[in-house]
Amino acid sequence: MAGLRVHSVLVTGANRGIGLGLVQHFLGMPNPPQWVFAACRAPTGQRAQELQRLASKHRNLVIIPLEVTDPASIKVAAAQVGEHLGGSGLTLLINNAGIANINLLDQETLENMTRVYTTNTTGPLLMGQEFLPLLKKAAQGSPGSALSCSRAAIINMSSIAGSITDVFGWEYGQVVSYRCSKAALNMLTKCQSLRYKEDGILCIALHPGWVQTDMGRLGAHKPPLTVDESVQGMLKVLSSLSEKDTGTFLSWEGKVIPW
Ligand code: NDP
Repeated sequence: MAGLRVHSVLVTGANRGIGLGLVQHFLGMPNPPQWVFAACRAPTGQRAQELQRLASKHRNLVIIPLEVTDPASIKVAAAQVGEHLGGSGLTLLINNAGIANINLLDQETLENMTRVYTTNTTGPLLMGQEFLPLLKKAAQGSPGSALSCSRAAIINMSSIAGSITDVFGWEYGQVVSYRCSKAALNMLTKCQSLRYKEDGILCIALHPGWVQTDMGRLGAHKPPLTVDESVQGMLKVLSSLSEKDTGTFLSWEGKVIPW
């Protein structure tokens, strides 16, 4: 992870699971970011207690209220983050918040398809739009012109379940709304990479592996990876990314996943 020097990072869905793991690992780095923004929708709720505990110990950790399906909430969050950053930009935006539903194809509904798509796909789109000025500022303030996660980047937490080639885990769960939302998130990532390249912002879709979280345990099988293993792998991947990687779909081990 020696190559990853992040001035500031925002993680959505940071109160539990992979998001919380990312926050913990950023705080524990030898050169931790100056600002770690942990965004969650219920900062004072039962599920954010660990985040509250961490915030009382780490002055560089700021908890930001954020509901990713609400444009007004995203706007307020971006303003709050901008205030904390003063004149500097946001280095890393990690769109991690997500939901899944283990419905079979025959059970999917308009309401469910819409809810999952709005959270997993539209949320990251709106986050990218609203945080663009701060990401651009980070890119402009960074020395050199090459793309990297130490300069400015959007990381969209995708899933191999959204790979049309692989259709990973069909036998464990059809999860059609989830698969469709992640396939669409992959396309969004490609579009963001094309549009934001000129602004110096690297964009990737990242599969964290099958991880022991509330979501990972939704089915009947125990996921093989701990949060720590997944996050350590992903941070290593982030530290190695360069120009050639923007617009790609990678695993927590750095392997290219077919769309
Ligand atoms: P969890 O279910 O453990 O946590 C999900 C997080 O997202 C929670 O913090 C939750 O907040 C937040 N969230 C959900 N909806 C919203 C919303 N509308 N606004 C703001 N925050 C929201 O999931 P994981 O940690 O396992 O997953 C994290 C990401 O990794 C997801 O995008 C998921 O699709 C992806 N992933 C996970 C895999 C796994 O095996 N675990 C495999 C592949 C991909 P709250 O506590 O308020 O509900």
